[in-house]
Amino acid sequence: MSTVAVNGRTYNFPRRPTVVVCIDGGDPDYFDDGLRRGMLPALQRFQERGVWATAQAVVPTFTNPNNVSIVTGVPPAVHGICGNYFLDPDTGQEVMMNEPRFLRAESILAALSQQGARVVVSTAKDKLRRLLGHELRQGICFSAEKAHEATLAEHGIREVNALVGWDTPEVYSSQLSEFVLEAGLRLYEQQQPDLMYLSLTDYIQHKHAPGTPGADQFYQHLDRYFGAFDEMGAVVGLTADHGMNDKNTPTGEPQIIYLRTVLEAWLGAGQARVILPITDPYVVHHGALGSFATVYLDPHVDVSRVVARLQAEPGIEYVGTRARACDDFALPPDRLGDIVVISDRHTVLGKAPEEHDLSLLEGGLRSHGGLAEQTVPCIVNQPLHAAYRQQLPPTLRNFDVFDIVLNGVESAH
Ligand code: ZN
Ligand code: ZN
Repeated sequence: MSTVAVNGRTYNFPRRPTVVVCIDGGDPDYFDDGLRRGMLPALQRFQERGVWATAQAVVPTFTNPNNVSIVTGVPPAVHGICGNYFLDPDTGQEVMMNEPRFLRAESILAALSQQGARVVVSTAKDKLRRLLGHELRQGICFSAEKAHEATLAEHGIREVNALVGWDTPEVYSSQLSEFVLEAGLRLYEQQQPDLMYLSLTDYIQHKHAPGTPGADQFYQHLDRYFGAFDEMGAVVGLTADHGMNDKNTPTGEPQIIYLRTVLEAWLGAGQARVILPITDPYVVHHGALGSFATVYLDPHVDVSRVVARLQAEPGIEYVGTRARACDDFALPPDRLGDIVVISDRHTVLGKAPEEHDLSLLEGGLRSHGGLAEQTVPCIVNQPLHAAYRQQLPPTLRNFDVFDIVLNGVESAH
């Protein structure tokens, strides 16, 4: 079996060890800036020799929808994961969208593992682990956050800390991402798995803008890891789940539109339920403030009037009905509210002031979720086959990355 069909696309079985890294929040600005200042020698080699492009992430530009798109090769309309968090229509409860039961498509990782590929998945945050590792056969799948809890039965590996030689890092640290890469490197050396998917965390990108010392140090570390995989002969593909932007007023305060407050002023109390799909347990990153929201309206509310009024609000870039937004962004209609609201590059959406603890956001807010965070890197350390290159669409998606590394790399043919 040399190919596998997954969600309507065909992938070659990896012929060389292949490593795909999702640099959470890896905005292209970090790469361009680091390259310009000559700080990223491995990435510079990749640029000279391989692919250095940008791709479009899935909207909403959040972690779970994009990671799941990357590993399934399809958008949320197909795989079902359209947020980190949503209103479950079956229960009426607002819940994290972490559970494999919410998945509607199989992953490329699972399909290849079922054909005998040895697959390793490592993620910084545990919230992604079960989505990414679903139906892996004989694979390894663990999070850095809970590395010390890994067992052979559940994660396919134990004593991860001993393997890496580090204690489990603090969640709010750059080490959480570095742990994923260090573990990946050790496993690569020991086992040469056919396929690795390493998914990092965006803590640094939320806190450190491109060109600042915290960002420089982090990207230099990443560069060393990417260089090490390259030197060991791996095909390396790099992309991101979303970019990252400064979301502050000119005076440095978070620039927030409180949607429930706005809608209650127009419609009266209790007419609008605002869901913020950025919501996750890692509130120090973003205080549950991102640039994408969906709103459930009371059935008596005139949806088109609310859409028109919100469209006129400063700081709001996009407002669409459920049907329109699902069409525009390939989202699953049964998992969205009546309207979708997206704020602009420097604005986030909240529910109401009392729902967000801004004291966690010292140093201002950097976040994502909107259209302004859709452009991400698409980098490969090897050149592409000419015939493959010619049939590439003009706009790449981040969820094309497995197609590119498995089907497009020259030596794969
Ligand atoms: Zn993310
Ligand atoms: Zn984030």
